[in-house]
Amino acid sequence: MFNSLSDRLTATFKNLRGKGRLTEADVDGTVREIRRALLDADVAVPVVREFTAHVKERALGEEVSQALNPGQQVVKIVNDELVRILGGETRRINLAKNPPTVIMLAGLQGAGKTTLAGKLAKWLKGQGHTPLLVACDLQRPNAVKQLQVNGERAGVPVYAPHPGVSSEFEASTGDPVVVARNGVSEARQKQHDIVIVDTAGRLGVDAEMMQQAADIRAAINPHEVLFVIDAMIGQDAVNTAQAFNDGVNFTGVVLSKLDGDARGGAALSVASVTGKPVMFASTGEGLDDFEVFHPDRMASRILDMGDILTLIEQAEKSWDKDEAERMAKKFVDQEDFTLEDFLAQMQQIRKMGSLKKMLTMMPGAQVSRQQLEQFDERQIDRIEAIVRSMTPHERRVPKIINGSRRARIAKGSGVHVSEVNAMLERFTEAQKMMKRMAAGGGMPGMPGGRA
Ligand code: GDP
Repeated sequence: MFNSLSDRLTATFKNLRGKGRLTEADVDGTVREIRRALLDADVAVPVVREFTAHVKERALGEEVSQALNPGQQVVKIVNDELVRILGGETRRINLAKNPPTVIMLAGLQGAGKTTLAGKLAKWLKGQGHTPLLVACDLQRPNAVKQLQVNGERAGVPVYAPHPGVSSEFEASTGDPVVVARNGVSEARQKQHDIVIVDTAGRLGVDAEMMQQAADIRAAINPHEVLFVIDAMIGQDAVNTAQAFNDGVNFTGVVLSKLDGDARGGAALSVASVTGKPVMFASTGEGLDDFEVFHPDRMASRILDMGDILTLIEQAEKSWDKDEAERMAKKFVDQEDFTLEDFLAQMQQIRKMGSLKKMLTMMPGAQVSRQQLEQFDERQIDRIEAIVRSMTPHERRVPKIINGSRRARIAKGSGVHVSEVNAMLERFTEAQKMMKRMAAGGGMPGMPGGRA
């Protein structure tokens, strides 16, 4: 998402590069481009107006920094404004002093509430909480069942109004307000520290639905009311968000379906129009496709300044500690960096997730989007095939790989000799880099940065 907005903004900033001083005309031209880019991304008109007014005022104003040139200064201003309209600081869940913390979900039908309930439950459980899911969407056929399936996948129990489990009164009336209230009591009784209440939506904003949501809110007095919105709905997002804000006075926003090719307008408008922060992002149908939303990181991703923190977090999550320790020990013992190590490191990189996804988070200066599109992850497969076609001795002492060995390896791995040559060249470079780092006492990095 945000790709085209991102491309447009970075192109605009390129024009400012190298300018020693910005004239009023420069600023006007830049602001005009920013306005167009935001409107094309479906950002709501009032938000665009306020955004560009702030940028212009600050760019022409007093803020002269010694450290930045005028072009960089404009980028910084735009970055600050993006962070501001996305909700400012990262907002965490407001946990109750006396558990259970009650979290209610609201939003239109199909927004992704039931899916989110499962994701949120799994994420919270992973942090040591003991959530209970409560199924109050009695409107949509199958919603209760769907929540039960998600609960099972997340390993989290579900409180649902079906005969035998709930009270007879509930089952007979099918009143979601009663189910919600009983669900919270159940959580209290069974010592769950968090309750997540899924509610019914309609296809469009509807007075009856809003009343029901408001009644549930009044009955369970939640610590958080999360409004879930489909990021793909474009300009409609603002009206829907406003209606829910008036109706249930939500405390935070969850953007769902950010994996689609949404132009990003909803993300950039909703927080600003309602004054409520975006707290989470849903990025797929799987239970793990879920992220805490960090306005500052999102802004730097949009401005192509790289999202290094997210990258580091991902790397940490999948980094194989034993392998890293093995490498570190090699350094201390001053052992040679072999082709086997090279392969092991390639596999580490691959494990960190889709390479393309990782590379898009790196600062734009290094890899252009076009290069990325062309990048083929199968390259790693080929490197693997080449290394696997070598004898153990060759892998440990690559020096001995002469012309006839190269021909044999190429044949064995089904590639052209030139690919074997290129791969060995990259390996030699990586080996040199490792030697330098070992001499400097550094920790192992990643070889083959030219991926
Ligand atoms: P609800 O009516 O608000 O409870 O919406 P659901 O949770 O049932 O979601 C509606 C549809 O959207 C389902 O088919 C989900 O699998 C799908 N969905 C939910 N969240 C996401 C997401 O982040 N990305 C994608 N691609 N699909 C999603």
